[in-house]
Amino acid sequence: MTDLSKISSLCKRRGFVYQSSEIYGGLGSVWDYGPLGVELKNNVKNLWWKSVVYQRDDVEGLDAGILMHPDVWKASGHVTNFKDLLVDCKSCKKRFRYDLLKTKSCPECEGEFTGPRPFNLMFKTFIGSLESESSEAFLRPETAQGIFVNFKNVLVSSRKKLPFGIAQIGKAFRNEITTGNFTFRSREFEQMELEYFTRPEESDKCFEYWVNERFNWYKKYGINEKNIKLREHAKNELAHYAKACYDIEFLFPMGWSELEGIAHRTDFDLKQHSKVSGKSLTYFDEVKNEEITPHVIEPSGGVDRAVLAFLLDAYKEEKVRNDKRVVLNFHKYLAPIKAAVLPLLRNRPELVKLAKDIYKDLRGDYKVQYDDTASIGRLYRRQDEIGTLYCITVDVDSLEDKKVTVRDRDTMKQERISVDMLKKYVDEKVK
Ligand code: ATP
Repeated sequence: MTDLSKISSLCKRRGFVYQSSEIYGGLGSVWDYGPLGVELKNNVKNLWWKSVVYQRDDVEGLDAGILMHPDVWKASGHVTNFKDLLVDCKSCKKRFRYDLLKTKSCPECEGEFTGPRPFNLMFKTFIGSLESESSEAFLRPETAQGIFVNFKNVLVSSRKKLPFGIAQIGKAFRNEITTGNFTFRSREFEQMELEYFTRPEESDKCFEYWVNERFNWYKKYGINEKNIKLREHAKNELAHYAKACYDIEFLFPMGWSELEGIAHRTDFDLKQHSKVSGKSLTYFDEVKNEEITPHVIEPSGGVDRAVLAFLLDAYKEEKVRNDKRVVLNFHKYLAPIKAAVLPLLRNRPELVKLAKDIYKDLRGDYKVQYDDTASIGRLYRRQDEIGTLYCITVDVDSLEDKKVTVRDRDTMKQERISVDMLKKYVDEKVK
């Protein structure tokens, strides 16, 4: 498995991911996505949205606020339960998560620990100008609650019948005690969450369906079967709201770790919000002529963890003749740059013009790069390293035969394609 430091340095060098506020010394466990990172991340989110919303007729989308009424977090159990136990080292003052500790004294300085204390992972903030208790609010630690509190709104406005789901992608914030492993555990991150509502007696079958559906999604977009597996939660590991849960795990450099969790949450959330808000969150089944509280199946994935897994999985070092080739062999829909236009000579104005015209013709529906700042060998290496699907070189012959050379990232095979046909050719390959 690829070293995490190799990926993080490639990410920084090539503009996928930077440390937040780097010029000020950085902000711990917050990351900024650069020009290539934002493309890759958008591609991941779009593919999730397509498979969960567009390609089905039983799921609607939602984009709820990050700030919510403070009672939401009381009802959901986050105020009481969303806590980790922490200990502080009395000497060096470093803080550790109690459940992850393997030593009785500080691993940094062998100092003595304080006793374990609960630490709520939610970030607090204040609404309005008064820093008083009444205006206290939280940055959401998950997107799911925005869906539960809008259950009735979506049901009424979209006239859905059970079973149906509500999908949302958005930021979540957790004041994690132990962070690290690059973007794997961040304090600010994005989630892709689906809450799928079903009749109670159909919920177990539905749970199984979504576990498979989500597992296959990662494989469909290129994750090697050897690097991904399902892990069922033991009964004593289940969250307070869950009847069953599977984690989709990826073989990260630090070992098998969670990429996404699929939980059977029963009717816990709708009943809790109904109880605390005093509003009915039931569903009237016209066929059976009864009012029920649906059960819910929740596939909850991390955008940043998916991006990291796709990066790690795509990273290859190959030997080509006597050279080392580094290539990110992303699935074509994930590749941040679909094509690069590379003029072979930059001191021939008519050649540069043709290359620029080709570039302008191609760009628009996807990201295309134009690069003439190095020799062709170097330009190919640059594009391989960021996973660009096609390199299009414009040479002196192109001026005569109106053809260009198209090089495929994976096979490295080169083909002469007529300029007239180029857009159609690339569109068909990447769209
Ligand atoms: P972990 O056990 O790794 O802390 P979790 O079980 O608390 O994760 P969930 O609450 O199930 O995670 O959140 C759903 C998904 O959100 C996770 O599978 C993960 O992909 C993502 N996620 C959760 N916490 C973080 C974080 N701190 N940084 C990045 N992604 C996260």
